[in-house]
Amino acid sequence: MTPDSNASPGPIIGIDLGTTNSLASICDERGPRVLASRDGSRLLPSVVRYDPDGVVVGEAARAGAIRHATRTVSSAKRLLGRSAAECMRNGLQLPYQVVAGPRGLACIKLEDQTVTPQEVGAHVLAALRTRAEESLGQTVTRAVVTVPAYFDDAQRTATRDAGRLAGLDVVRMVNEPTAAALAYGLGERSAEERTVVVYDLGGGTFDVSVLRMSPPEEEDEETLYEVLATAGDTRLGGDDFDQLLMNRILDDAGVDQDAREGLSLEALQALRRCAEQMKFELSNRDQVSLDLQLEDRLLPRSLRVEVTRSSFEGMIQPLLERTIKACAAVLADAKLQTSDIDRVVLVGGSTRIPAVRDAVETFFDCPPYTALDPDEVVGLGAGVQASILEGNRSDMLLLDVIPLSLGIETVGGAVAKLLTRNSSIPVRASERFSTSIDGQTSVKIHVLQGERELVDDCRSLGIFHLTEIPPMPAGIPRIEVEFIVDADGVLSVHAVERRSGRQASIQVVPSFGLTPEEVDRIESDSFTHARADMHAHRVIDLRVNAALDVKWISEALERVRDELDPTYVQSLTGLLDDVRAQIRLSGEDVTRIDADAFHASKELLDKESIRLHEAAIAASLREDPGSGS
Ligand code: AMP
Repeated sequence: MTPDSNASPGPIIGIDLGTTNSLASICDERGPRVLASRDGSRLLPSVVRYDPDGVVVGEAARAGAIRHATRTVSSAKRLLGRSAAECMRNGLQLPYQVVAGPRGLACIKLEDQTVTPQEVGAHVLAALRTRAEESLGQTVTRAVVTVPAYFDDAQRTATRDAGRLAGLDVVRMVNEPTAAALAYGLGERSAEERTVVVYDLGGGTFDVSVLRMSPPEEEDEETLYEVLATAGDTRLGGDDFDQLLMNRILDDAGVDQDAREGLSLEALQALRRCAEQMKFELSNRDQVSLDLQLEDRLLPRSLRVEVTRSSFEGMIQPLLERTIKACAAVLADAKLQTSDIDRVVLVGGSTRIPAVRDAVETFFDCPPYTALDPDEVVGLGAGVQASILEGNRSDMLLLDVIPLSLGIETVGGAVAKLLTRNSSIPVRASERFSTSIDGQTSVKIHVLQGERELVDDCRSLGIFHLTEIPPMPAGIPRIEVEFIVDADGVLSVHAVERRSGRQASIQVVPSFGLTPEEVDRIESDSFTHARADMHAHRVIDLRVNAALDVKWISEALERVRDELDPTYVQSLTGLLDDVRAQIRLSGEDVTRIDADAFHASKELLDKESIRLHEAAIAASLREDPGSGS
């Protein structure tokens, strides 16, 4: 597709121009979404390389940054609109030389040229503009761009200049925390004033802001988003966590301080990659081990590294405490207490770390919003602001009821609905489940939306796993799944295995990507297929239960066959074969099964197996007199 070159101004896109990564978004009747590149990348590294024959932007520039160090610029956002003297004073550490340009403004000195941070920003913005035009098939000339809440006038003007150089009219600049709140639709449903904290922990920086949202007084006005206070630390983030893990790896390898100074750049890079990889895995697992192959005379050639989540949490604890102190300071600045805060929103890749989430939850005494990807939430909010400016938000689903039922997948591919459509929000419901296989230590929780009975006919909202359940016989674990949809329409699903206390959760925004037309279609489909769906659901449930019965009865029969009357054994075996045949057939095609007949065969088998059950209990009492109940 090529852009339409007519003079129409085209849509307004949203852009998060980030220090490390940037992204473009749009918000149409399906809600906000990221505009991906042709190869599917959603984030664009904010890295630019100046080659003799042209400029390289994004992933290729990032990947070659070390090889082409003298021609590559990263983190230019840190210099935007600032004087060179100010950057020196703040001790900014960047892999290139910062020099004073016109009016003393910070510029970047490369191999054979000097560039301004605005020019670097313009290359990133132009790459996003091209990406948006390819994805939308339209010319794009206008954008909403996000900036940190603490950006002053000079930094904002420099951002606007970068846009102009990229052929983009920056129609509005939105504070990053405000964008994060907009992405969640905060402030839109509420008729009352709301106070929101945005906790943003990225790779190199930490910011926390308090926002106040006031509903419009007149119908044609917008919600007012006001930043009451911000605080942060420009040298605190995920990179520090990587450094701590690297130190730990070097400690374990017995490399002393002096030797660390002499490590090659390649070895340091390999160690850093390994540390970051371990950090990612520790966000999902309790323990990780990695085999690291190294080419450095000061290090062992191969190194086995093991770290537990709890030791990693111990390492980063002092840094987390610094972020929490900043949260306390920002509240004090805004003259607020934690009890005044209505919502907490998480932004930045490092907020995927469970200990970060826990620290925030403990301090604010409320679970933070994590449903949106923390790397995309600011960019999505820019898209929402763009669509507000275009005045086309009326089609979006902003409801005070859940438009479609919500549930989870059960064994066999059926859906157990926990919340039915049109329930008013906020609403909660819970249901108890168990395992279907002996010794099962992990359960997949697949969250679904829709009116149909089978997983394949519903919309998947997300999957998470409840892991490390102690092995128990099938049916013994007590897994409670709770659904909570809050007043903003955000769904939190929480699962806990009561006997072991293991728990896991997920948050999603069910209305994202849904249009009113789609809701209507899903509803009418459910009427059309109601009879067939009910039949399929019933057969699936029968199959699952019958399979458990067959398993138990055949095992018991093997144990006590010799003690039973052969005619009884023969009739029970015949009934077992009948049910097995029904199970097999129902697995092939549910529509061919007579559910009543299947039900009747299963009932008959259950009834006939009572004698077997009694014999099995008597046998086990003889073997172990203490085991009867
Ligand atoms: P940002 O600057 O917001 O893009 O955040 C980047 C930081 O988030 C980097 O330090 C990443 O290592 C970190 N990060 C990304 N994903 C994860 C994860 N799953 N667990 C821990 N840290 C992560």
